[in-house]
Order: sequence, then structure tokens, then C-alpha cells
Amino acid sequence: MTTKKLSAGDIIESRCTKCREVLNHRIVAMVDGKVVRVECNTCNGVHNYYPPPPERDEKVPRAAVAAKPRTPAASPRTPRKDPLEAEREEWASLSPTFDLDKALHYNMNDRYPVKRLIDHSVFGVGIVKAVISPNKMQVLFKEGVKLLRCQN
Ligand SMILES: [Zn+2]
Repeated sequence: MTTKKLSAGDIIESRCTKCREVLNHRIVAMVDGKVVRVECNTCNGVHNYYPPPPERDEKVPRAAVAAKPRTPAASPRTPRKDPLEAEREEWASLSPTFDLDKALHYNMNDRYPVKRLIDHSVFGVGIVKAVISPNKMQVLFKEGVKLLRCQN
């Protein structure tokens, strides 16, 4: 509240019990430096002092506005599929069709056609998705697509 010293007869804002609004009131009685009774300038009613509610016009709406841009980002629209998840799903649908006996042990000096099954020492069994020059191929493994060296 204000640091200004008040005394009886001063005008102060108070909620008025009759007008039901924050209005100017004249201080009628004070106890220990605190306003206790006021007289409404509008209806001239004398009643206990009710301090007006804390001002909200400045800080609260601004904080609300500042917080708003976050909301659209957080709102869950059609969730973008993370590419790794898509690759895992592709793996899940393809892997049952694999003829593992035909998987070739991966060697970076070999050539691999698309759809060739390979057996990689680290990633396990994978299927060649695409050959990208120079000398690289995309291979779908259980953990996702990896880029491997090959002859091309
Ligand atoms: Zn009043």
C-alpha cells in the first residue's frame, strides 16, 4: 500500500458496502494509523473501511500474455512421427518377411543391391533400402536406418 500518511478527513479508496464498488471515501476514524471507518463520497454511507482489491491491471494480464505463446506449442496437434519411430515400424513390418539364411555378412568392399539382407556385426540383420553414391547405402536395421559404406 501507499507510504503516505493518512489521517481522518483524507480521501481514500475503499469498497463501499452500499455501492458495491471501489469509490472515494473520506476517512472518518483511524486506529493506530489504520483506517477503520470511512464515509462514501457517493452515497454518504458510513461503514468500515474495506481496502480495494490489489490492482491487477498491470502485472497479471502481462504475465498471462507472456505465457500465452507457450500454449499453442504445447497443445498436442497431430503428433509428428519421429523418423526413428517410423523406421522402427517399417522394421517391424518388414522383418518377419526376412529370410535370414540369405543375409550376407556385411563387408564394406562388397556391392549390395536394394532389398539385399545383410548381417552387420554391430547392428545385426538389416535390409538395404537405397544405395547412395558415392559408396554409401542406407540400411534399415532394428534400431533404425544406418548409413554404411559399400562398393557402388
Ligand atoms: Zn457508497
